[in-house]
Order: sequence, then C-alpha cells, then structure tokens
Amino acid sequence: MSDVFLNGSLTIAGLGPGDTAMMTPEVSAAIAQASDVVGYNSYVARIPPREGLRLHASDNRVELDRARHALQLASDGGHVVVVSSGDPGVFAMASAVFEALESAPEYLDVEISVLPGITAMLAAAARAGAPLGHDFCAINLSDNLKPWELVERRLQLAIEGDFAVALYNPRSASRPQQFARALEILRAGCGPDRLITFARAVTTPAERIVTVPLSEAKADMADMRTVVIVGNSATRRVGRYVYTPRSAP
Ligand code: SAH
Repeated sequence: MSDVFLNGSLTIAGLGPGDTAMMTPEVSAAIAQASDVVGYNSYVARIPPREGLRLHASDNRVELDRARHALQLASDGGHVVVVSSGDPGVFAMASAVFEALESAPEYLDVEISVLPGITAMLAAAARAGAPLGHDFCAINLSDNLKPWELVERRLQLAIEGDFAVALYNPRSASRPQQFARALEILRAGCGPDRLITFARAVTTPAERIVTVPLSEAKADMADMRTVVIVGNSATRRVGRYVYTPRSAP
C-alpha cells in the first residue's frame, strides 16, 4: 500500500458555477480518487455516487461543523474532498476549514490542498461580455457573518473608487429589504444610467442574464441564485455585449 493510502488528505475543491464542463480536470481527478465528499446538500448532489465513495451532505450555515468533520475524516485516513460551488476560496468552504484548523491544532498534520474553480462572477462576466475588464471588487451582501453597516460602507467605498462591483448573495427570503437598500445606494452614487447585470443560475439550464440601466433595476430581479455585476462609470454596451474598457480617463 502506498503512503497515499496510509495518510489521509483533505482537498477543498471548487465545482464551478454549474456546468460540469466548467469543472477543472484536477477537481474531477480529486473527486474520482476520494473516499469521502463533504459539503452543502445541493453541491454534494452534483457528485455522481459510486461504490466506495461516502457522501456527507449537510445543511447550509453549519460550515464550521462541516469543516471539523472533514478534518476528522482526513485525520482518520480518508481522502476527503470538501466541495463548494464556484471557487472554494470565494465566500465558501476554504476559509471555514482554516478557521476550524486554527481552533483544532491537533489536525495541523493533515495535508490540505485547495483546488480553484470558476467563481460565479467570472462565469457571469464572460456570458455578458467583459464587464470586469478594468479594476473591480466583490462584495458578499449577506449579513450572516458581518454587520449590515459594513456592507453599506464597502458598497459606498466601491462606488467612490469607481470599481465595477460583483455582488454575491444579493437577496434571500430572510432579508428581503437589503438588496432594495443596496440599489438605493447604487442609484444615489452612480446615477440612473449605470449598467447593472443580473446573472442567474449561470451555466445551468435555468440561466438568465439581463442587463439594464440602474433606473430600471428592481430588487426582485435578484435572488440567491443570482450574481449581480454593477459596471464602473465607463462600462457600456457594444451590440448585445457589455464591456468595461481597459483604461480609465
Ligand atoms: N463559492 C461560490 C460563491 C458562494 S456564495 C463561487 O465562487 O461562485 C453563493 C452566491 O454565489 C449566490 O448567492 C450567487 O450570488 C453566487 N452564485 C453561485 N453560483 C452561481 C451561478 N451559477 N449563477 C449565478 N450566481 C451564482
């Protein structure tokens, strides 16, 4: 038996935005060699079952428990793959695993690797054209792990810096008003003509991409399967595409 089977490993992998063609070959290989796959229900559901593979699906909002469980399985000798959608380092499980490791140093010997994936904003930007072609930033609009005041402040500063902005987790049933408030801040800071793209379920059969000026943006155009891209002051349309020039005036 090789060392690989004596020592466990923990791989934190990004599944990409949806379409399996957007999963990297190294992620597919890690899943093919895994003994255990750990993750949120709907991400684990994307892994085809096979003999010898244990699937550990759990509910959202239990990221730290899930991370500890994965570390435990790996330290017991498992080849564990923790799955996230998109990229695992973008508002996802990679940081949760390192947070769990910080509070459980007994697992410091577990070999951990992070395998990148195509994050939602990149898949969405590619579908729209090139709205992130100049300086940009990404903001998670969820206030589960930070105060809403901080979300507003970062949005305000992004507008002042004239960044294009990708907004993750824009709107959920449990916090319906916040995205409406974010749109108000955007309108006040960017004016009515700024282009905003709503990209829903990108690369899945339910994909829908809509670009409108801020004056026509409505809060119900976004849900938790949508990533929103707000252009910078130079973002414009060319034909049916949206792009941001590489240079700033
Ligand atoms: N790690 C993921 C992000 C997890 S946060 C990544 O890198 O993409 C979850 C948020 O990601 C969703 O609320 C939505 O804003 C965005 N998202 C994930 N997959 C998406 C998809 N296929 N289409 C549009 N947005 C998506």
